Amino acid sequence: MEFKTVPHDGRASEASLKGSQLITGHMGYVPEDGKSAAQMLSDGGLTYDDFLILPGFIDFVPDDVSLRSPLTRNISLNAPLVSSPMDTVTEHEMAIAMALMGGIGILHHNCDAERQAEMVRMVKKYKQGFIMDPVVLSPEDSVERVMEIKANRGFGGIPITATGKVGGKLLGIVTSRDIDYLNAESYATPVSEVMTPAERLMVGNTEMSLDDANAVMQDARKGKLPIVNDDFELVALISRSDLKKSREYPDSSKDAKGQLLVGAAIGTREHDRERLRLLVEAGVDVVVLDSSQGNSVFQIGMIRFIKDNFPQVDVIAGNVVTAAQAKNLIDAGADGLRIGMGSGSICITQEVMAVGRAQATAVYKVCEYARRFGIPCIADGGIKTVGHITKALALGSSCVMMGSLLAGTSEAPGEYFFQDGVRLKKYRGMGSLNAMEKDGSRHRYFSQEKDKIRVAQGVTGTVADKGSVLRFVPYLCAGVRHGLQDIGCRSTVSLRAAMYAGEIRFETRTVSAQMEGGVHGLHSYEKRLY
Ligand code: NAD
Ligand code: IMP
Repeated sequence: MEFKTVPHDGRASEASLKGSQLITGHMGYVPEDGKSAAQMLSDGGLTYDDFLILPGFIDFVPDDVSLRSPLTRNISLNAPLVSSPMDTVTEHEMAIAMALMGGIGILHHNCDAERQAEMVRMVKKYKQGFIMDPVVLSPEDSVERVMEIKANRGFGGIPITATGKVGGKLLGIVTSRDIDYLNAESYATPVSEVMTPAERLMVGNTEMSLDDANAVMQDARKGKLPIVNDDFELVALISRSDLKKSREYPDSSKDAKGQLLVGAAIGTREHDRERLRLLVEAGVDVVVLDSSQGNSVFQIGMIRFIKDNFPQVDVIAGNVVTAAQAKNLIDAGADGLRIGMGSGSICITQEVMAVGRAQATAVYKVCEYARRFGIPCIADGGIKTVGHITKALALGSSCVMMGSLLAGTSEAPGEYFFQDGVRLKKYRGMGSLNAMEKDGSRHRYFSQEKDKIRVAQGVTGTVADKGSVLRFVPYLCAGVRHGLQDIGCRSTVSLRAAMYAGEIRFETRTVSAQMEGGVHGLHSYEKRLY
């Protein structure tokens, strides 16, 4: 028996594909099946759920699939995954975890410029095993506060500094051992009375390597080692339980100096130029111009300003959903584009503004235009499952950006809480009234228009606990590798090439086909994903 497979190396053209499907050895004629992306998306707006990708030929295993993909003109990632610049999704903890996993986090800007720059610094300074922003208390804080932190965050070794912050003089440390035998009457006691004072503490210095620190802690049978500078000010904390968990991250996203990559979002107002300067000083690798409608004089002006003043920083512009929008931003000098208007899980833009586009169509149309100029695109919003990531990549995007999918992870900002027996975190749109009213957000909105009516574009909600990014992102990557194997592509790069060559075949599906494609006909079931 002789097989002829349609090659997925992107060399074939639509015309050659038709030829190659006609004669297939002893198996005879194989009729053309499905549609090319161009055919499927020629008319009407489709979402990710409206279509499927037809399977290809498998001659490799999922581990052979390379997920390496460009984020911008100058930056590539080993995992094409980006966390959204939202204040319930990406602060430094998320950005560190995403970069360790081979993706990247984009820090939100719903805070002071100084705070955002400090978060950039924390990602750039990250050294595995060193906790650069440990929970710290002041000597006046009560034992009850320690109990609360232990209950909510699951740890009990807390440094005490004069200022109650990192950078303050180290006065002692309070551990579980210091408080476990205290009764309720002692809860109001200040921690200064129960802590192990600085003179009895073992500390490390800033020159110490992780191996040295580990050896010191092992010898002294200590669980925590505060790191101090020459003035005995707290710089970091090393925790043995974290060290035990620590491992190598060979795919992590790093710059030439070996520091993790990080992005930050900014707006397009005058004061964002100063914010940008602080971010660049802190070492930001890429900035995202954060807007629902990026095709504006404001954004074009900002791109030009960045290119004139900080040419070393890549700029991702957007959001856009049409080629015409993309053209203006590419012409102005954008190094990458962010696609999506109204597709986000917390979004009411299409309902309120009457403007936007179904996401699958938006992704295909913009990517198909931007590729002519070598500009990578991020499919942003509406990613509900790992299959949606594969679909977004198959429509031409180089990376996907996620909000809701990551908001329930332990690295997302905010504490977990229980509602109806489910462990949840808060998740909200950056255009929700809630986010717009946050202290420190005034710069984003209405700074000169204080008395104008606000028009919300997002809602506030909750998402279920998803565990750590360090486990969830590997699941997403493994899922995408399996998807690409089914399609018959060994890499995201060949997937895009094959799609443009018309070799990846798509099919739209009816509502009943969508129901058939989900779990159905069961009395009850358990859905565990990994
Ligand atoms: P935006 O900053 O682009 O726009 C807010 C308002 O400020 C707009 O009216 C804009 O025209 C105006 N503006 C911007 N720069 C200006 C300048 N220099 N001078 C005068 N006016 C200026 O933000 P947005 O579009 O309202 O989005 C807010 C947040 O919500 C962002 O985080 C965005 O990502 C998110 N959002 C996203 C979507 C989406 O579908 N992707 C939809 C809505 C909101
Ligand atoms: P999700 O992954 O479907 O939850 O969508 C996340 C995306 O929604 C973000 O990356 C933004 O582009 C977009 N977004 C963020 N805040 C808002 C909002 O308030 N309204 C509409 N869209 C938003």
